[in-house]
Order: sequence, then structure tokens, then C-alpha cells
Amino acid sequence: MSERRQPVVGILGGGQLARMLALAAAPLGVNCLVVDGSADACAGQVAPLVVADWSDRAALEAFARRVDVVTFDFENVPADTAHWLAERVAVFPPPDALAVAQDRLAEKTLFRECGLATPEFMTVDTREQLDRALAAVGAPAILKTRRLGYDGKGQFRLKQLGDADAAWAALGAQAATHGLILEAFVPFERELSVIAVRGRDGEFRAWPLTGNWHVDGVLSMSLAPAPNLGQLQQRASEHARVLAEHLGYVGVFALELFVRDGELLGNEMAPRVHNSGHWTIEGAHASQFENHVRAVLGLPLGDTGVRGAAAMFNWVGELPDAAPVLQAVDAHWHDYGKQARPGRKVGHATVCAADAAQLSARLSGIADALGREAQVAPVVQALDART
Ligand code: AMP
Repeated sequence: MSERRQPVVGILGGGQLARMLALAAAPLGVNCLVVDGSADACAGQVAPLVVADWSDRAALEAFARRVDVVTFDFENVPADTAHWLAERVAVFPPPDALAVAQDRLAEKTLFRECGLATPEFMTVDTREQLDRALAAVGAPAILKTRRLGYDGKGQFRLKQLGDADAAWAALGAQAATHGLILEAFVPFERELSVIAVRGRDGEFRAWPLTGNWHVDGVLSMSLAPAPNLGQLQQRASEHARVLAEHLGYVGVFALELFVRDGELLGNEMAPRVHNSGHWTIEGAHASQFENHVRAVLGLPLGDTGVRGAAAMFNWVGELPDAAPVLQAVDAHWHDYGKQARPGRKVGHATVCAADAAQLSARLSGIADALGREAQVAPVVQALDART
């Protein structure tokens, strides 16, 4: 009898996303091997960790030999590293899709080509171009780095045309290295994300749309299914499907959307499991992490249906007291095992319930006990205003 060999998924980046991927892979009999430049990467607490940086070809060569497929917890792995690896081992999502999602300009251009409207935008490479872009796009606007920005980093908000000097002082030095883009500031009614998955055979599934609330550009709360969607659910899923097919995408991704005047605008696409999909661990039949592992290995995809309603608190900077969550009914505590640091995502909690009314009551109870009434307020308001 031949010896049984368990599949191994290699993950580039060892943060909390890799950690949750490894935890979801285990029951499937799948092992993970993580690469990160830092020896204390938190995924290393639950999966073997190779400490190497993206330019260490000898370490990546050895890593590629130990895994069946490579995927990412971090979208800013250099595209040439991803392409180089793809010559040695299967890499999903495909490096070309990663490259598009790494560049806000390429991404928004693709959205428009695929029929998804976006906020007005213009590229900015020089100080003069910033003036021209501001004249065209108008104020308020947001200047963003095209590459390597996340969670509101690499962004400057211009309230009026006179803020151009301050914006250039903040980001102008990055024009040559990362490129810049000026976007119209959208006075959106709400923010939504589609978490979706596409298999190696092209099968596509989306979870119900998630409603999201950000503070200082960082996700604070998510709610699923987002209430009062009407046609938006179907339209958003369809946009996600068209994009995934266009990119030959394999794996889970998130499409972040603004709703303005009832219309969808594409903000960005994350080519990986996403913070706004963490609620799927306990709130859906198959989580985004499990389905990503299934997709990259070519296994059948799991059911993206939900059990009732779910909401997620993000713990940013430091963890609150765990006890009120640990003691609550159908509430789930996640500590990523990271050091507290301002602005750092260190954990989350998901609260599930049979329906919106029950969820609203459970969220309020936990928020009161934690002194987090302000964080939960917009979610409770959305739940209570549902029709
Ligand atoms: P991003 O890193 O581009 O996803 O931006 C982080 C957050 O900043 C978004 O989720 C929005 O809440 C806000 N934001 C980004 N771009 C815009 C925009 N063009 N108009 C209004 N708000 C924006």
C-alpha cells in the first residue's frame, strides 16, 4: 500500500489571514506551509513557518518543492516573485490577476471595461498633473498611492482645491515609486463588499453581500446579510462573476463597493480572503477560508449560504476584554496572537443570531458590556431600520 500524502498549501505572507486559512485547512486534511519575512508572523503559531523575504530565491525554490499549490495572504507580494514561482508550482490566484489588483489604476480601468462604474479618477505623476486632475475631478477628492496602500494608508483627503500643496507634501515623494491616483470623494449611502470564490473548474459562488463601516479608513464593523438590498445583491454578484471570469481568477476575492443614489461604484478588489468576510467562519455553511483552500486545490466548493445573520467587530490597536464575548450566546472570539500596536488588526469577534432582531439585541448587549456603543451604533441602526 502506498503511503498517504496530505496536500500542502504554501502561503506567501504569515498574518492573520494565513493563520485562519491554516486553521480552516486542517479539518480537510490539508497542511499549510507559510513564508514570511518576520519570525514572529502570527500564522507561525498554527502552521510551520519559513522565514525568508520575497527576494530570497533559494528559500522560495525550496518552499516551492515542499508544496502542491501556492497562494497569498498578502496581495503586495511582488508580481515578479509570483510569476517566478508560477514557473515552478501552481499559483492561485494567477499572478496576472494579482498584478491588476495591486494597482488602483489597472483595477479601476478593468472595472470600467467590465461594466462596473467607479468614482471619477485620474493618474497623477507630477505636481502639475495634480492641479489638472483636481480641476477635472473636483473637490472633495482623495489622493492615493496606486500601489502598496491599504487600510487608508497612502491616502490624503483634499477638502478643497487649496489642499493640493498639503496633499503633494504628504504623498508627492511616492509619485515616482508607487504612482498616484486622484479619486473623487464619493458621498456614499453605504459600503458593501461581495466575497466570492471561483474554482479551478470555473464554478463561481458568492456569499450574501456584507455591509461595512470604516473608521479612519480601517474596517470597524461588518454585517451580513446586509439589509435592504433589493436588486443590489444580484447586481453585485454579477459584477464579481464577470471580473473573476475576465481574470481567470481562482480562489476567494473581495470586491469593495460604494452605493450612491442606489447605484454601485467599484472601489477596489482584494485578491485574497478579506477582513469583511471573517463572519463567514461561524455565520456561513462554508467559510471564505475553507472555500479558498478548496478552490486552490481544485476540490468542490462549499455552500456559501448563511445561518441567520452575523456581525463582526474588528479589534484594531488592542484587544478589549474577552469575557463579555466569551460569555455571550453564539459569539465567537478571535485573538490573532499579535502584539498590540496603534492601527494594527489584532483580532475580531463574530456574533451570530437567528434573525436581524435577535442580532441587534445581542450586539447591543456585548457593546454595552465592552463600552463599545459607538462602534456598534451604525450596525444596530441598520438592523433596526430594515424593512
Ligand atoms: P481603500 O483603501 O481605497 O479601500 O479606502 C479605505 C476606505 O476609505 C474605504 O473603505 C472608504 O470608507 C474610504 N474611501 C476610499 N476611497 C473613497 C472615495 N473615493 N470616496 C469616499 N470614501 C472613500
